[in-house]
Amino acid sequence: MKKIDLHIHTNFSDGLFSPEEVLDLAEERGYNVIAFADHDNIDGYLAGRDYAREIGIELIPAVEISTLEQGRDVHILAYYFDIKNKKLLSLLKKIYDSRYSRAEKIIEKLNAQDINISIEQVKSFSGQNNYIGRPHICRALIENGYCNDKYEAFDTYLGEHCFAYVPKYACTTSEAISAVHQAGGIAVLAHPYTLGDDAMIYNIISYGVDGMEVFYAKSNDETIYHYNEIAKENGLIRTGGSDFHGDGLDLEILGNYSAPEKVLSEMKRGRNE
Ligand code: AMP
Ligand code: ZN
Ligand code: FE
Ligand code: FE
Repeated sequence: MKKIDLHIHTNFSDGLFSPEEVLDLAEERGYNVIAFADHDNIDGYLAGRDYAREIGIELIPAVEISTLEQGRDVHILAYYFDIKNKKLLSLLKKIYDSRYSRAEKIIEKLNAQDINISIEQVKSFSGQNNYIGRPHICRALIENGYCNDKYEAFDTYLGEHCFAYVPKYACTTSEAISAVHQAGGIAVLAHPYTLGDDAMIYNIISYGVDGMEVFYAKSNDETIYHYNEIAKENGLIRTGGSDFHGDGLDLEILGNYSAPEKVLSEMKRGRNE
């Protein structure tokens, strides 16, 4: 049996560990096939692929794209695309580049309410590629004593319904799916349960998404069953992953989790091999 995890974050987005550290941990914990699905960039994949080969772990090219559908955050996972495809890379860069000014706006809103964190402090938490996401702002809020943990930070300050929420530039869900297809990749709807809206999921299916992240580690048996049925009925590839960030709250998930082995054959069929 192969041990598989197709949704892992490194410190090239909002994970805590470097690609090499994640690979060492994955090797130690017996994984055969993994994918770094960092938000809006593939720098972690590029940095880790030689080391993965060296230690005998199959590292699948992947990315988790930030998209917007009717004002909701929808994450589209892409796998097996051409990592040199200009159109996809420029789409990712546009989303990625907008993160800095968005972080500045969030911090301005916090500062206006006398919550004192600075962009310099937030930047100090980002990895080698200066990626900034809400989890980095969250760390500054915790460090400066404005909340106890990430859940409190999202509930009070950073979540979609909070005063300091600022949406980032994101392409539409259908635009992202088309760009992934043009780059020869597979587009997968990440963690469908976070949408909790089947009508929206059927819309996304109508845009031509190839798969759904049915076997998501942070969901439960009931939701897995529900999305497995929708995926089967619509002929979608059923993928799975842990969404490991290594931030202390999910440290054990990398090791305890594996996607079922049939995920790999379904993905290969999706690529018409
Ligand atoms: P961003 O891409 O900057 O909008 O940040 C999104 C990331 O923040 C997600 O991928 C999660 O890692 C994290 N996140 C979003 N919502 C929550 C939440 N309610 N609780 C904890 N983490 C969250
Ligand atoms: Zn994340
Ligand atoms: Fe996500
Ligand atoms: Fe993720």
